Amino acid sequence: MEERYDIAIIGSGPAGLSAAVNAKIRNKNIILFGNKNLSFKLCKAPKVNNYLGFYDISGEELKDKFTEHIDKMGIEITEERINAVYAMGDYFTLMVNEKAYEAKTIILATGMEFTKPLKGEEEFLGKGVGYCATCDAPLYRNKVVTIVGYTREAEKEANYVSELASKLYYIPMYKENYELVNKVEILKDKPIEITGDEKVERLILKSDEIKTDGVFILKESVAPSQLVPGLLIEDEHIKVDKNMKTNIDGCFAAGDCVGTPYQYIKSAGEGQIAALSAVNYLSSIK
Ligand SMILES: Cc1cc2nc3c(=O)[nH]c(=O)nc-3n(C[C@H](O)[C@H](O)[C@H](O)COP(=O)(O)OP(=O)(O)OC[C@H]3O[C@@H](n4cnc5c(N)ncnc54)[C@H](O)[C@@H]3O)c2cc1C
Repeated sequence: MEERYDIAIIGSGPAGLSAAVNAKIRNKNIILFGNKNLSFKLCKAPKVNNYLGFYDISGEELKDKFTEHIDKMGIEITEERINAVYAMGDYFTLMVNEKAYEAKTIILATGMEFTKPLKGEEEFLGKGVGYCATCDAPLYRNKVVTIVGYTREAEKEANYVSELASKLYYIPMYKENYELVNKVEILKDKPIEITGDEKVERLILKSDEIKTDGVFILKESVAPSQLVPGLLIEDEHIKVDKNMKTNIDGCFAAGDCVGTPYQYIKSAGEGQIAALSAVNYLSSIK
């Protein structure tokens, strides 16, 4: 059997890192999912003056401090994007494409996605719209696929899916040098609406319209309601009590994903509460 962790933490921003540090101090067997850059929002901050103990620091410098801290504690980041989490009763299964991890408790620290869904996105979800192109790639063999990529990670998925699809359009939602294979056609346009009858047929762009069988929207984070089926959401945020417990036993949440104000130190504080609540929960189920 695969190793079953005590606590799986999803997200490597300040909330997830603080949860990891505190769970590790309490001697729990943890796994932390995210990326080596920790958080896009952390790297982007020009100047941070409200993180106690670090006056006049850039987001990038704060990121380096956080990295040094977790390195010294022997905490590693597993660079995987969790696509779905299923509550199995007394444990959780976390899906990464075809791979699965198991943990007794989970802490959601996925941040907050600010972009609204596209028109038609929710309507066609599962009918041609998806959030993991590599997972669904076999369904699109010899078909036309469009990937709307919000981060560079999406380029890898585009290159892989282009091997199976008859045509792959890539719509970058950021400006950078794209590392895409020749087969991929880059469209520098703004997606407006997904249309079709029973399933996806077209993507309307600001200055064009393309025929497509599938549209994958690859953002930094998946909406929590899609990530964890059955999770209670209120006003676009995960509903938690003061112990950072969600409506699902053993599932805790912290940081921007549970509500405003969107701030580093608030996220770190909540990550700590979530970790300690998870530790208490683990002792209660023994
Ligand atoms: C330009 C800018 C400047 C800012 N300046 C300040 C400031 O000066 N002071 C301040 O207090 N706050 C500031 N903020 C706000 C601050 O960035 C956020 O409040 C904070 O980063 C939230 O932390 P978090 O841990 O909740 O989420 P995030 O920092 O958003 O981290 C979430 C992480 O989880 C990862 N993730 C998401 N879903 C998954 C998944 N399914 N699988 C694996 N990983 C996943 C993401 O990739 C991301 O790395 C600023 C924000 C911006 C954009």
